[in-house]
Amino acid sequence: MPYTVNKLNGYSATVLDKAFADLRDAFRDEAVCVSDLVQFKAHRDRWLARKNGVLTLVRELWLREAPAEARAEVGKRFNDVKSHIEGLVKTQGMDLELRKLEGSISKRIETVDEWKQAELGDPLDITLPGIRRPIGAEHPVIKTMNEMIGVFRNLGYSVEEGPEIETDFYNFEALNFPPNHPARDTQDTLFIAGQESKPLRDRLLLRTHTSPVQIRTMQKMKPPVRVVCPGKVHRNDAPDATHSPIFHQIEGLAVDTNITFCDLKGTLDHAMKAMFGSSVKTRFYPSFFPFTEPSADVQISCIFCDGKGTRDGAPCRNCKASGWIELLGCGMVDPNVYGFVDYDATKVSGFAFGMGVERIAILKYGVDDIQLFFQGDVRFLEQFG
Ligand SMILES: [Zn+2]
Repeated sequence: MPYTVNKLNGYSATVLDKAFADLRDAFRDEAVCVSDLVQFKAHRDRWLARKNGVLTLVRELWLREAPAEARAEVGKRFNDVKSHIEGLVKTQGMDLELRKLEGSISKRIETVDEWKQAELGDPLDITLPGIRRPIGAEHPVIKTMNEMIGVFRNLGYSVEEGPEIETDFYNFEALNFPPNHPARDTQDTLFIAGQESKPLRDRLLLRTHTSPVQIRTMQKMKPPVRVVCPGKVHRNDAPDATHSPIFHQIEGLAVDTNITFCDLKGTLDHAMKAMFGSSVKTRFYPSFFPFTEPSADVQISCIFCDGKGTRDGAPCRNCKASGWIELLGCGMVDPNVYGFVDYDATKVSGFAFGMGVERIAILKYGVDDIQLFFQGDVRFLEQFG
């Protein structure tokens, strides 16, 4: 028989003792039967609801009905039992919430329906710790590329990008490569298959350098031009510690009136000092590229042995004991190139340079295998985070 509140038959201490003891016992007997949150809520409402809850009925039938001389005593006992019951309800509720939470954590939610069900039953608890997602970091190649771009941005250069699949015209012809230049050989260049029926200049290939972007930029922009062109390039190379069929370049181009080789030297010397430290020296060696005349290779003083060629008494491996490391190619833009982009070669002059981003990253971070940049091994990449 569930407990019901009846009128008291008297207000003597004995009657009150028994009535309030029965009340407590009844609450306890019902509370121990509660095993889940649904039962708990029903039990809580039965005892504590303002309207028709057991305690409300006790107040109405025992306290309000009490004769004036007994009212203080009944009131005191009522308040005692009320705070006793409220305290137990609160503790039991918290305990059940906790157990439910532990249960829901140990149970994996696997279907959408289960998820909806869980959401329905579990109001969001904003005091729980959130799900932490590890923050990624820039890839060392991208990081190096952005640093280099930053150096040239500070000199007033803007950034231009272009397609990775290029035509022979942009990749070779407009850059002054003669028709039978060995770079066009499939040994060096990855061509798109099935292009043989097209005229040579329209055939598609994976760009072998970012220089086509320079041509595209000059076609749409009149001098003065100051751009850097970062991006992915491809060569028909088998992967090994120093070669990769894919790598990244940054090229630069400055065209204006009265640009001289001195401007080129000053610009690159500044850029190398900005990248590798102000003590780094540069030197220029004659070289050859179809699209520049004169052309030069740029070497920087070895950053591992400070240009001395020896380290700890032994020959420096990084510069093969020469004290210098070759890093990039450059030159004054060949006047023939201006013919392809409608610039007046008698009025403008300019310089261009290009460098491999992986090569710089390898030097900067002391990486000994270019393949590490492309394998996606998180243990390697984490070191740059
Ligand atoms: Zn060295």
